[in-house]
Order: sequence, then C-alpha cells, then structure tokens
Amino acid sequence: MSIDRREFLKFAGASTLLGLGGITAVQELLKTSAGASHVMVDEKALSAKRWAMVIDISKFKTEADYKNVVQACHSIHNVPDIGNPKDEVKWIWTDTYEHTFPGQGNEYMPEGLKHKPFLLLCNHCEQPPCVRVCPTKATFKRKDGIVMMDQHRCIGCRFCMAACPFGARSFNWRDPRPFIKEQNPEYPTRTMGVVEKCTFCFERLAKGLQPACVEKSNGGLIFGDLSDPNSEVRKVLSTHYSIRRKPEIGTQPSVYYIIGGSENA
Ligand code: SF4
Ligand code: SF4
Ligand code: SF4
Repeated sequence: MSIDRREFLKFAGASTLLGLGGITAVQELLKTSAGASHVMVDEKALSAKRWAMVIDISKFKTEADYKNVVQACHSIHNVPDIGNPKDEVKWIWTDTYEHTFPGQGNEYMPEGLKHKPFLLLCNHCEQPPCVRVCPTKATFKRKDGIVMMDQHRCIGCRFCMAACPFGARSFNWRDPRPFIKEQNPEYPTRTMGVVEKCTFCFERLAKGLQPACVEKSNGGLIFGDLSDPNSEVRKVLSTHYSIRRKPEIGTQPSVYYIIGGSENA
C-alpha cells in the first residue's frame, strides 16, 4: 500500500482546498499504511509477516559509516537538529555498549567493543509496552510488526516514553520546524507537544523501497521478513551469533545485533 509523491501532494492539496489542512492528509497517509483505507495501493509495496532489522557492527568502522545512516533517516523524515541534548529529537542514534546492552558485558570483553558506538532505534517490539499504555491509540502495532506513530492522535501525555525501556521515543518540547535544515516536502513535519520515533520507513516500504538507513549502510543493516526462512535477515541470523537489547524485559525486539569479537574492535 502506498501513496506516491504526486498523489500525496495532490491529496494534501485537495484537503487544504477543502479547508482540512495537511494534517488530515497525513492522517489519511497513515490510515492507508495501517490498512484502514483501501485507496492508492502500490503493487511494488514490500510486505512481511514480521519486519526485522539486523545490525552487523563489523561493517561500521568510521564515523562516516554511522553519520551516513543517521543523516539518511533524519533528513528524509524531517527530524529537527535542535543541538541541545535536553530537547533533542532522534530516530536513530549511537551509544556505548554499556548503555546499549546493560548487564551483557564484562570487564574482560574486547576493548574495541567497550568503546565502539552502537546504532540504536525503536526496536519495533513484538510485545511493545508503548502501545499498551497509549490512551489514544496514537501508538499502534501493525500486522507486520511495525510499531507506528500517528502524531495527530498524540496528546503528548508521554506515557509511551515512560513505558519504553529503550529510550526510543522523543518528545517535541518546542516547535521542531525551525530546526529542520532542508525540509523534505514528501514527509510531514510535526508540531510541538507530540512524540515521535522510527517507523521502520513504512512510507518507503509502501513504495517498494528498503528503509533509508539500510540503503545507506553498505550492508551494515539488513532488513527483511523474520517469518520467512529464505529472507536475508533469517539467513544472517542463522549463520551469526546475535543479541538483542534487554532481553530480560520480554518485549522481544525486532532489532538484532551481530556483535562478533575482537575483529569488530
Ligand atoms: S522500542 Fe520502545 S518505542 Fe519501540 S516498540 Fe519497543 S517499547 Fe515501543
Ligand atoms: S504521548 Fe502520544 S503516543 Fe505517547 S502515549 Fe501519549 S498519546 Fe500515546
Ligand atoms: S528504519 Fe527508517 S525510520 Fe527507522 S531509523 Fe531507519 S531510516 Fe529511520
């Protein structure tokens, strides 16, 4: 299911003419992606029973490797660069091994791993606590496992932020629009007072495209259907040892990390 740029702009334009504004157009975009509407289906759309991502950290060697991936996501999704950690909005970012996998390290692990940055994003958990606590259903889980955000239903209560054990959600403490360097007209901007996060690029999947971060990762990120034994993600997971974040919490993340050993240092 998809809505291409021409159709989206046409749709947004029509709703503006009708006095409904871009917001309504975006709600329709989300409805379409959530399967609640049956208009404008793209036959190229990628589908899965359960989308998942594998992060092979051996492929991330330089600062640029990380930067390319983060920039790809943040620029196409109009994520503001506020430059102040307190008000920061982030969909994909980096942190240390210790913070990424608390309790899963020890003092004798390879030095390189201890100091290497790890990419973090929403885990699109199989059992997402953020969905359970959202009073307005602004956060919801699609049949294919993507945990979605509908900013127009979000009342900014931040229950989901408190419930997410991974810090994967950001709150817009201020109007983000002045902090977007170059706005992508194909993706909606958000307002102050709503929560946002990675959506596994649902809008790109709907057009038959891989997530933007995956496309820019030079094979460091692998995306596919976890329920398909022939998918690349399954092949990689069956041939490499992988770990997930905070497994003890039981949210069952759909993001897996191939850590490797000293060669990753
Ligand atoms: S990582 Fe957090 S925001 Fe993402 S699905 Fe899991 S609980 Fe929800
Ligand atoms: S902040 Fe928005 S998405 Fe989060 S729980 Fe409240 S209404 Fe739902
Ligand atoms: S999957 Fe898409 S939305 Fe999520 S971090 Fe990657 S580029 Fe951003």
